[in-house]
Amino acid sequence: MRICAYVQEAYAKQTYKNECMDTRQFVGLRVVLDALEKDGYDVEYAGIATVHEYDVVLVSITAFCDWWTFLGERIRWKEGSYKVFVGGAGVLHVTPFLPWVDAFMIGRGEDIIVPLIRAEERGDRFESESVIYSDDFSEDRCYYIKQARESYPHPIQLHKGAPWKEGQIGCNHRCLFCSYTWSRKQNFSGAFMWDGGGTLDMSERECALLDYKSGKYNVNWKMLRTTAIDGSSQRLRYGVGKKIDDSVVMDFVRDATSSDASPHIVRLFNIVGYPTERVEDYAELVDTFRRADEKCTGTSNGKKWVFGLQNNHFIPYPATPMACAPFSCKDYRNSMILGLKSELPKRRLYSGKCVDLVEGQLEEGLSTVLLNVIVARAGRNDWDSIEKVALSKKFWSSKDAVKCSTLAKYFDLSTLCGAYAPEELPSRYLHTYAEVEKLWGNTPLEVEYRNVRC
Ligand code: SF4
Repeated sequence: MRICAYVQEAYAKQTYKNECMDTRQFVGLRVVLDALEKDGYDVEYAGIATVHEYDVVLVSITAFCDWWTFLGERIRWKEGSYKVFVGGAGVLHVTPFLPWVDAFMIGRGEDIIVPLIRAEERGDRFESESVIYSDDFSEDRCYYIKQARESYPHPIQLHKGAPWKEGQIGCNHRCLFCSYTWSRKQNFSGAFMWDGGGTLDMSERECALLDYKSGKYNVNWKMLRTTAIDGSSQRLRYGVGKKIDDSVVMDFVRDATSSDASPHIVRLFNIVGYPTERVEDYAELVDTFRRADEKCTGTSNGKKWVFGLQNNHFIPYPATPMACAPFSCKDYRNSMILGLKSELPKRRLYSGKCVDLVEGQLEEGLSTVLLNVIVARAGRNDWDSIEKVALSKKFWSSKDAVKCSTLAKYFDLSTLCGAYAPEELPSRYLHTYAEVEKLWGNTPLEVEYRNVRC
């Protein structure tokens, strides 16, 4: 049996400078290939020109955006007798992609791939609650995201550099919106240290504010470049289970300024577009920085620390407690500057004596986020529209606003972006290691959202 790993011509994440088969996005695929090779299988690489020559095509979807570039090629593949098996962190809700995939591996693939391929060789099926065959899939069955108790034990040789060895799996926190933590059961104790996927040592460059708050993480201020607040106000952060008080943000800012490190830029990842979010939440964040700055006594060299907000749009990911939450179909570019009517130069929201707070550019335009919502929630009625969008060169070369109006024409966005009842949630069949479905529709911000609307 000839098996290939598919290499897309176009990669979805153009913003990654070094996007290639060596970057961490493809480590999951390498683990799966390693498991196959250890079992004696040969796996070749194939692209759109040769893919039809194989019996099994393995496809890695590492993020929701990869679906669109993959489909743009998959629909143009030559006919063949191949079976298409898809896995990766971007494989959660499968209904939108049933026509183009034979089997989906949900979650960790290293223990699934060999029995799946063996069953295929026998002309049989591998019965697993984490394998979805398209032709007998039902939204009314239950499927589970496959977990791994142990990190993958074998080193993987990426093309460049030292062999990669998997570190910790999961996160020691459970933020209600976070697909990462709910898809991967934590296999360690203590604070998470991202190993950079073998390409970068990030352990001193980023910290979780929850670990900083609990004293589990000693910040090296000279090295620190990134942290996340994931909510502009204490109300929002508590509402999504990320219990960072304003006082913790203030302590963090003051500790930075009073350290002996030279002032530098620290990126603050934030989420905007939560249900019930309002401009007062942005004002609270600015006020928190103002209050912290007022208590600062100076910095190591008299220059200012700059905290750059990196805002990302809230998306109700499948198999998270907030999977049923409404999506705010609004363009959040400059939302804080405009909402707060800030007239400070250089995108500043606050400029004090020791600290500046800046609203960075949004990483993704509204159309990109809407495409993710479609991946998270589309149904069988959307197959034609998905195919049209995936194949349309005109769509992909359009500006964000044109893309948004095209998506509004092809998809029922008011339903896809709305709040869902759990029994109507398109991804209701998808479960994980914890009973997140018990919270569907009932997380604090969703309850508040319903009360406000009533
Ligand atoms: S968002 Fe929360 S749960 Fe997710 S990785 Fe960050 S700290 Fe962990």
